[in-house]
Amino acid sequence: MRSALVLFVILSCAKAYNTTQDILHAAQIQCTKHKHYTCYYDNEILVLEWKSDRPKNVLWNFNEHARELITGELALHMIHLIPKLNPSKRITMVPIMNVWGRTTAMDSNPCQRKNKNNVDPNRNFWTPTNHRKYRKSSEEYEGRTPISQPESILLDKLLTNTKRYVNVHSGESSIYMPHDGSYSKVKNYKTMHETIHKYAKHCPECTVGPAAVKSFYRAYGTSVDWAIEKGVPEAYTFEIFGRETSNCFKMFNPDDMTKTLEKWEKILLLTIN
Ligand SMILES: [Zn+2]
Repeated sequence: MRSALVLFVILSCAKAYNTTQDILHAAQIQCTKHKHYTCYYDNEILVLEWKSDRPKNVLWNFNEHARELITGELALHMIHLIPKLNPSKRITMVPIMNVWGRTTAMDSNPCQRKNKNNVDPNRNFWTPTNHRKYRKSSEEYEGRTPISQPESILLDKLLTNTKRYVNVHSGESSIYMPHDGSYSKVKNYKTMHETIHKYAKHCPECTVGPAAVKSFYRAYGTSVDWAIEKGVPEAYTFEIFGRETSNCFKMFNPDDMTKTLEKWEKILLLTIN
């Protein structure tokens, strides 16, 4: 009886996941509180800028895949942390890219990955040379036309003049550089290779390297590959948590967020320079 009570207390101490609206609301409060933050909405997607008067620099994109709830939590964690550190560089953040999807993942379907139109936003950046036709029922369905979704249209705009793009996902522990869809080396290979190994010092369990080479699959039409194609000098994918289970919530999200947030906070801060 007593041990059950202790377990109950421990479990209730682990912070619960925020709803999508709670995260967006909390982010907006930060915008009213700190003069260096500006907020705006593009459709239902919130964009936060830190020191928007400075030249474009790093772009952080979170929760592109709906069920990866922890990534939206990491966004909120960073949004609270940034004003305390007062970095001089501009930071552009999309705390929750797939707004409808994340809400659905929390409310009714923890396995929800794609957007409202049944498209995987992270496959919608396809080009004739970086394209695979996925079935509509596939979790990787790329959409009938490229850059046709609210998420991909916004991201494409934000990527213009960005120096370093970071796409934050969960499902495994990895620090990837492009390409996702081909084995060819990116132009800026040496810099990116050195950088991911620097980041990886904070994540000893992470798989590190070009995604197509290091992961078990190739992903076509992803936003990091598109960023490189578009001339962004550096692009990375962070996979911040994963475990092997058939339970969707548990596969993508830790029970206790603390360790994951602390670890990736350090790595994200390294991306601002
Ligand atoms: Zn993902």
